[in-house]
Amino acid sequence: MPSAATWASPTRYSTQCPPGTRSPATSSCPDTLPPGNTGTRSRCSGRPTSASTSTSCLTAVSATAHVRSYDMGRQCHGHAVKSGLAEHHYVCNALLHMYCQCAHVEDAVKVFESVSGFNAFAFNSMINRFLDKGMFDCSVSVVRSMVGEVEQWDHVPYVAVLGHCASTKELLLGRQVHAQALKRRLELSVYVGSALVDMYGKCECACDAHSAFEVLPEKNVVSWTAVMTAYTQNELFEEALQFFLDLKMEGVQPNEFTYAVALNSCAGLAALKNGNALSASAMKTGHWGALSVCNALINMYAKSGSINDAWRVFLSMPWRDVVSWNSIIIGYAHHGLAREAMSVFHDMLFAEEAPSYVTFVGVLSACAQLGLVDEGLYYLNTMMKEMGIKPGREHYTCMVGLLCRDGRLDEAEHFILSNYIGTDVVAWKSLLGSCQVYKNYGLGHRVAEQILQLKPNDVGTYVMLSNMYAKANRWDGVVKVRKLMRERGVRKEPGVSWIQVGSEVHVFTSDDKNHQWINQITRKLRELIDQIKVIGYVPNFAVVLHDVEDEQKEEHLMYHSEKMALAFGLIHSPEGATIRIMKNLRICDDCHVAMKLISLVTRRRIVVRDTVRFHCIEDGVCSCDDHW
Ligand SMILES: [Zn+2]
Ligand SMILES: [Zn+2]
Repeated sequence: MPSAATWASPTRYSTQCPPGTRSPATSSCPDTLPPGNTGTRSRCSGRPTSASTSTSCLTAVSATAHVRSYDMGRQCHGHAVKSGLAEHHYVCNALLHMYCQCAHVEDAVKVFESVSGFNAFAFNSMINRFLDKGMFDCSVSVVRSMVGEVEQWDHVPYVAVLGHCASTKELLLGRQVHAQALKRRLELSVYVGSALVDMYGKCECACDAHSAFEVLPEKNVVSWTAVMTAYTQNELFEEALQFFLDLKMEGVQPNEFTYAVALNSCAGLAALKNGNALSASAMKTGHWGALSVCNALINMYAKSGSINDAWRVFLSMPWRDVVSWNSIIIGYAHHGLAREAMSVFHDMLFAEEAPSYVTFVGVLSACAQLGLVDEGLYYLNTMMKEMGIKPGREHYTCMVGLLCRDGRLDEAEHFILSNYIGTDVVAWKSLLGSCQVYKNYGLGHRVAEQILQLKPNDVGTYVMLSNMYAKANRWDGVVKVRKLMRERGVRKEPGVSWIQVGSEVHVFTSDDKNHQWINQITRKLRELIDQIKVIGYVPNFAVVLHDVEDEQKEEHLMYHSEKMALAFGLIHSPEGATIRIMKNLRICDDCHVAMKLISLVTRRRIVVRDTVRFHCIEDGVCSCDDHW
């Protein structure tokens, strides 16, 4: 070990370094190269030094990397420069690793750029570090120099370059690397194969991911998890869960990441029962407490409408990361539980967890639900100025929702136009929805026209427009909208709702009179509608776009998929049980009103997940407060 004196500040060496050598005078890393040497890469020399000196230097640098002490690491670097070890192959690798571990990537870059002849592992660690930090430009340049400098490519560089292609979604480069790997028969290595699966998955090519997986002669838990992840990322949740079953059939033991992916697939399907079964299985196999599993459980419960279970998992976690906090905040916000979302956000700040981009989406959406305009603006400012997070469309859309919620519709329009989100259909639709709520039909028409210019086939907008005309008793307008739809060939995507009863998922399509249970469902629906008419239900014909008589319109409304699913759920579930329905479109006005009244007469809690949010309907009130 070096003596105590050599541990002093690197500036001590400035006077001692002989002229012409790299002086660590201003920085311990070689950014102060002597004239004539600046910027050129010298080769890792491995120049003869005493073995014990290089070993002790190596040990010292590794030790500082281990404890992540940047200051001590810099001192070691200074010592290495002084004793001529700074270009030694192993010392360079250790220095790179140390600077990366201490989160001083810029110093690592200086070491990396000043010396050449690194091995594949060094390239690998640089690429991974850049990818972790989202510094894709830097990883590209490392990939380029790796292609030029590393002669012997085994699986390590392939994994690194494929990781880069996955993160930057560079499918073309990824395919080229795949072709290279094929020539060397390396695609059959489980490491390269899994990296290929991951790359194709992230580049939205689930089929190619599957092919890369299929050819693997030996599939381990990593490759199985990679293919499941590829499918989940491409929203092929059922297939991903099928892989999970296959893996178990093959006798492969799932690890915590496999469970996490499977649970995220359940979240995508809102398949609470399968999620519960996975949770039990993870518990049995001792994976339940893992951070990734707990985060996935929160996500699964939050997306399946069981926010209380999500909260229970959150509370039980021994430690949490930013993903855990974000999942629960967003979960509460989607459930219309904005106060809870804000309270968790304050707990997060108290726990000194740094909020991220996603956190603020949840916070701003909670502020919007609570109508907290000033707070919303305050957090948007804090995010930009104090946290240095660049706001994205999601944040701006929340701000539009916030202004709308407060009835400041003109301001919202101005906000959209002045923040360069004028082409964002979601923001305009949020404003259009509020124009309906606040009966500002003049602005509503303008906004609808704006949306139809951007997206001429947006059925929802035609429905809202027709709705606004109907509410203003402008039936000529309603006729005009229908005509426009016919002319433009706009067809309403059929509404599909699904509900899980027992272990089976039952799917209902609007107006589907051939459903196996149609007689039973019709009887139940008629009975329910008679009951709610007594307490004030009036069918909302404005949402019916068909040109038919009122009587037929009423029938169209009755057979909306979510009403059919609800009737089926009421028949086939025990008294008092919560009904959970998923829908492919936004729930319509008529179903929303009807469900609120049905929750009163049946004393049931009804949870509907539509494309926008959750509607937790109980005792005649919806958690969305009629804004969605
Ligand atoms: Zn409906
Ligand atoms: Zn609602």
